[in-house]
Order: sequence, then structure tokens, then C-alpha cells
Amino acid sequence: MEKKKKTAAIVLAAGQGKRMGTRTAKQFLLLDGKPVLYYALNAFEQSDVDVVVLVTGKDEIEYCRKEIVEAYGFKKVYDIVPGGKERYHSVACGLKSLKEVQEDIEIVLIHDGARPFVTEEMIHKLIRETRIYEACVIGTPVKDTIKIADEDGFCAQTPSRNRVWAVQTPQSFSFGMVSDAYEALLREEENILSRGVQITDDAMVVEYMTERKVRLVEGDYTNIKLTTPEDLVISEAFLKKIKK
Ligand code: C5P
Repeated sequence: MEKKKKTAAIVLAAGQGKRMGTRTAKQFLLLDGKPVLYYALNAFEQSDVDVVVLVTGKDEIEYCRKEIVEAYGFKKVYDIVPGGKERYHSVACGLKSLKEVQEDIEIVLIHDGARPFVTEEMIHKLIRETRIYEACVIGTPVKDTIKIADEDGFCAQTPSRNRVWAVQTPQSFSFGMVSDAYEALLREEENILSRGVQITDDAMVVEYMTERKVRLVEGDYTNIKLTTPEDLVISEAFLKKIKK
């Protein structure tokens, strides 16, 4: 009998979140009495995902194990691994753990631990679309008009608003394809960085390192990433609405 192929998630919590201006990294701040990271892990625990690897700072591993994973009984988290300097290094650490420890992974979802409002529905939709397109990102069409600035701070271009999306996470991929793309990225890292490219999401890695086109999947405006202090106020308002 053929073995069931698994779906995995990498949840990223190894950033320092300097733009939040708090001593505690944003993924560990409390939202309604629970760490921000709890909410994303809880969504994956309730979802179709089979296994989760959590990536955090090496000094936060014990805290995450005791105060989050064990305290809330997250059974799908099979490992907590240290991350790296940039977000893409942390993703590579998560992919390495999956490759070494897990077998038969078909799809991997990569998610920012600082996005507490990911839902089971979003995860389900992404898995379904990834079976068709191999590479998907969730996001929303922008509400504001976007300007591309020139080097001197003047408007250089105005892209047509109906073609501009703000992308979020989870970003979801065929496991073999995205692992190969990340391995290629690390091999060519110096060369890519020397061209001034800033790697800020996983879709970019697939766009740069493979021929695969990345599918945009419509999500929800509530799926914000906590970045600056006002995001905490907005998050508390969203939580109140969800709990009603
Ligand atoms: O810094 P930014 O807001 O883009 O981070 C997005 C997510 O990536 C956060 O959940 C953060 O903890 C994580 N991250 C990471 N390793 C880094 C940088 C960011 O896991 N080196």
C-alpha cells in the first residue's frame, strides 16, 4: 500500500522584530494573555497539516518548548530548531530539519510566527491550490495606490492597482521543489546579494531560482504581520471581533 504523503509547516519565530520597539520579540508579546506565536501554532494544530517545525532563536528554544509547545499541548510540533541571521536562513534551517527527520513530505507551508490571524480555511485553500500549481502565496489586492520611488524620493511609476497585491504568509510549495530552490540560493547567496537583491519572502526564492510561476491565492486583510506598535492595537481589535 502506498504511504500517505505528508503536509508540513515551518513556523518562523527567530526574528528580533526591532521595528516593534519592545524588549520582547514581537512573536512572544502577549495578545489577550497568550503569546502571539500561540495563535499561528494553534491554527496549524487544528488544520490538515501533519507536522510542524518551529524555528526560533537558540536562546528561546527552551522557552518555546516549555511555555508554548508543552503548555498548550501542540502535538504536531516535532522539533524546535535555531534559526539564522536573515529570514531566508531561518527557512533553510526549517527545511533542513524536515529533510533530515521527516519522510514523505509532499507540501510545505512557510509561515511568519508574527502573523497570528492565519486560519484553518487559509491553510486548507493553500494546500488544495499547491496540489495544482506547486507554488502559492496568500495575499490581498492592495487598497492604496502604490508608487515606485526613484532614488531621490520622487514618484517614478504608478502600477495599475488591480494588478498589485500585498502578499502575506503562509506561502506553500511542493517540498522537493522549494528545498532545491533554497539549496541553490545558499550556494549562490553571495552572487545574488552582490547584485543588491533583498530576499524578503519565499516566493522570491522560487521566482529567482526556478522556472516555476507562483500562484496568488486570495486571503484576508486580517492576516496582518505584527511589525510596528499600532499593529498590536489592531490585533487586539481583531481578536475581540473573533471572540464575539
Ligand atoms: O522581520 P520580519 O517581520 O520580516 O519577519 C517575519 C517572520 O520571520 C517573523 O515571524 C520573524 O520571527 C521571522 N524571522 C526569522 N528569522 C530571521 C528573521 C525573521 O525566523 N532571521
